[in-house]
Amino acid sequence: MMFQGEEVKKDFPILNQVVNDEPLIYLDSAATSQKPTAVLTAIETYYKTANANVHRGVHTLAERATSQYEAARETVRVFIHAKETAEVLFTRGATTSLNWVAKSYGEANVNEGDEIVISYMEHHSNIVPWQQLARKKKATLKYIELTKDGQLDLTSAKEQITNKTKIVALTHVSNVLGSINPIAELTQLAHSVGAVMVVDGAQAVPHMAVDVVKLDVDFYAFSGHKMLGPTGIGVLYGKRALLEAMEPVEYGGEMIDFVYDQESTWTELPWKFEAGTPNIAGAIGLAAAIDYLNQLGMEKIHAYEIELVTYLLPKLRAIPGLVVYGPTDDSIRTGVVTFNVDDLHPHDLATALDMQGIAVRAGHHCTQPLMRQLGASSTARASIYLYNTKDDCDSLVKAILAAKEFFNYGLN
Ligand code: PMP
Repeated sequence: MMFQGEEVKKDFPILNQVVNDEPLIYLDSAATSQKPTAVLTAIETYYKTANANVHRGVHTLAERATSQYEAARETVRVFIHAKETAEVLFTRGATTSLNWVAKSYGEANVNEGDEIVISYMEHHSNIVPWQQLARKKKATLKYIELTKDGQLDLTSAKEQITNKTKIVALTHVSNVLGSINPIAELTQLAHSVGAVMVVDGAQAVPHMAVDVVKLDVDFYAFSGHKMLGPTGIGVLYGKRALLEAMEPVEYGGEMIDFVYDQESTWTELPWKFEAGTPNIAGAIGLAAAIDYLNQLGMEKIHAYEIELVTYLLPKLRAIPGLVVYGPTDDSIRTGVVTFNVDDLHPHDLATALDMQGIAVRAGHHCTQPLMRQLGASSTARASIYLYNTKDDCDSLVKAILAAKEFFNYGLN
């Protein structure tokens, strides 16, 4: 069956509203996605029927909450094709997941003179934890260069990844350029020098089928809120052998086995890493989001987003003075489109679009090193998701033209 964006949109109550006297067109899903009724209902039902603390109680609600929380972990496991739930840790989001790897794995395994390799298209959350680790351990942080059209330069990757490299940390999909990186190939490269591969999947998991075993990655991080789930819940996938050998990052209740007066032992995976009361409703909401995505099918979602973006890009590129950053081959990107128009400031453009009911983002998108590579201090970004339509794309183009006129830039 053909994918029907118009039909999908009806599942998202927030999208059915007027903003600044215009119907809302939400093109900021790379920042956060909207939530379908199924997710809202799952969270409400949990609080209305099952709310209790997990793992500790024997009463019925505690068992209900525990089994729903652990069922959510199993839903995530199947979704990313991990071998076992022990390898699926719930976190607050991709940022926390990446920080855990840097703190726990990084501090134990990176030493003076070692190298950590990232790229120029990373989000700050996949840069700053490694900078801090490198400083603490007197290691070197190296960057893989980008090609002119915003893809990872594989020649540069081969140069930067050496036998001094202990960690390679790369994004699966750029939150600015929309480029999809060849993670399986890069993982092989990392493994060939004995490094571990850490992948920031925040912009990939919501938009395409991801199989962590096929990719053979060692760690994979993502956020619930970018994939129709609630905020405050995320995932860190890690290979069992690595997680077993790692120290927890946080200590407290839920993660202990025995607590003696002066020392303690840790419980088994995955709970060893989940100190304190977890975000139970968040995990349940995330599982509902995954069920919703599965019902539509990740392959279909990805194909639909490519269809929309290949519809939108030529129209954008035809606007005089508009520059689109990122891959020119529209089939190897996701629905993230970053652009600038003349010397119109992206914030002014985003404000003008908002006046027409269109939500886009403007700024550095938490990628200041990338902005320097692009030679731009900021850009506008429209990001498409499964509830967008070709009409939304047309409205965006019309609104940009109107904004150009409003700011007196003319059409030529
Ligand atoms: N990585 C990428 C590529 C992202 O786009 C984002 C969110 N903008 C993050 C990491 C961080 O995700 P979160 O803020 O949910 O932790």
